[in-house]
Amino acid sequence: MTAAADLVLTNAEVHTLGSPDETHEAVAVRDGEVVRVGRTFDVELLAGVETRVVDCGGRVVLPGFIDAHTHLPMVGRSIVHADLSEAGSAAEAVELLRERAAEVERETEGGDGGTGDGIGDGGTDWVLGYGYDESRWDESRYLTRDDLDAVSESRPVVAFREDLHTAGVNSVVLDRYADELPDEGVRTAGDDGDGDDAGDPTGVVVEGAVDVLREATEPGREEMTELVRAAQSYATARGVTGVHDMVRGSRAPEVYRDLADAGELALRVRINYWSDHLDALREVGLRTNHGGGSRGDLVTVGAIKTFTDGSFGGRTAKLTEPYADAAADPDAADDETGQWVVAPEELRDLVADADESGYQLTAHAIGDAAVDAVLDAYEETDDPGAARHRVEHVELASDEAIERFADSGVVASVQPNFLKWADEGGLYDARLGERRLRTNRYRDLLDAGVDLAFGSDCMPLGPLLGVDLATDHPNPDQSLTVTEALRAYTSGAAYAGFDEGRLGTVAVGTAADLVVLDESPWETDSIRDVPVSMTVVDGRVVFERD
Ligand SMILES: [Zn+2]
Repeated sequence: MTAAADLVLTNAEVHTLGSPDETHEAVAVRDGEVVRVGRTFDVELLAGVETRVVDCGGRVVLPGFIDAHTHLPMVGRSIVHADLSEAGSAAEAVELLRERAAEVERETEGGDGGTGDGIGDGGTDWVLGYGYDESRWDESRYLTRDDLDAVSESRPVVAFREDLHTAGVNSVVLDRYADELPDEGVRTAGDDGDGDDAGDPTGVVVEGAVDVLREATEPGREEMTELVRAAQSYATARGVTGVHDMVRGSRAPEVYRDLADAGELALRVRINYWSDHLDALREVGLRTNHGGGSRGDLVTVGAIKTFTDGSFGGRTAKLTEPYADAAADPDAADDETGQWVVAPEELRDLVADADESGYQLTAHAIGDAAVDAVLDAYEETDDPGAARHRVEHVELASDEAIERFADSGVVASVQPNFLKWADEGGLYDARLGERRLRTNRYRDLLDAGVDLAFGSDCMPLGPLLGVDLATDHPNPDQSLTVTEALRAYTSGAAYAGFDEGRLGTVAVGTAADLVVLDESPWETDSIRDVPVSMTVVDGRVVFERD
């Protein structure tokens, strides 16, 4: 007699999302694995007295979503600190930060409030806001020291832009960090780009200066645990069962493993470590794909992550042709095509080094020049397809670049929610002009046979929003079907993490990572608004809507 299942979902529309996408009525799960799919009548035979049987009443069941590009602590921060993503104007952002300042005031009452003068003090007395996006405001401008001095004149205040390449700071931060902030990252009034006749800092800081502030506000272990717990609840409520998380100089890896050991990690985490950590990983013997793979083992070592360029928003993504609005940027005088964050030669050395040691690589590249530079570096390795090297974002890619992806087997890890900036009159229109229609060429990538993985970059985290945007692309020629978009968020992302076959589909023997949706994404008017009713990770119900 067969052992009873732990969980049985019946009367459902279970999609495998395979090719072709097959549907079944029911699925049974035991010990974290799918043990039977088929007709309700047959699957129900596995129900014993201890089995939880859920009648899905015709609802859609999919393989759980895998977000191939996350920063989970960032999601936690937006929940715990000021969430500026909803601010409709600079004034609203300031108001949200004022509310947060009042909270910090209460929280630090009686304590010393922290001195805030050392890197990594956990930022206990800081007033922090995350995710502002001025491109959606009527008055499209960065937050400045004047805005943020109005939040507090005694505590350090930082408002991070959504892309984390730009931030606004108040006078307290400019004073305290005068020595640490690199000059080229601190914008000044009347700056003509040559950097030597600069006036007072405007409070706008970019790139390297933002990194200094991110390090200074890096949470300690206890705060990180709070952030991860908040983030995993947010993610599983949106049907996410696994993430490929990008980690740099943070307590997050330790917290993921601690939570996993305690049985409290609610989703799979594949950790992509920043290239700063390469030597340390090599030294302690951690390689790509270590961990994971066996039952209950939710944390895996992923790729080595690096940058090449910045973002369109900051006019720092590296283009082959100048920005359409280069003249509007005082700092663009020297280089109207953006800038390298990691120069191509440096990238090539890193890629060769990490590839030789057997690591998967993943490199941020948004502009077409950056995408070419990463492909150049990957193509010099033995077998970039077998190593499953990936490019993050791939927002502007030439026909030739797309062919090179297909030929080399390099994975395109893309974020369909970035399409919210690609509409006529939007941010990409301003920065790129007509080129906005050639961003995020999902149809061309798929048709060329490129492995396509979807992720959110947590802007914001939410697979169904991404699926919605990918099926309604600003350039209709690049739209995907609902099935194709769902695959990119399941089997496509699984492939990018060497998890194909095990994750990203529903079949006997696959891990029991499932999501139950209240409405069919194939039949709804608004995919982004389809409610998630249940999320199952490794056979465990980690989210259930009441
Ligand atoms: Zn990212």
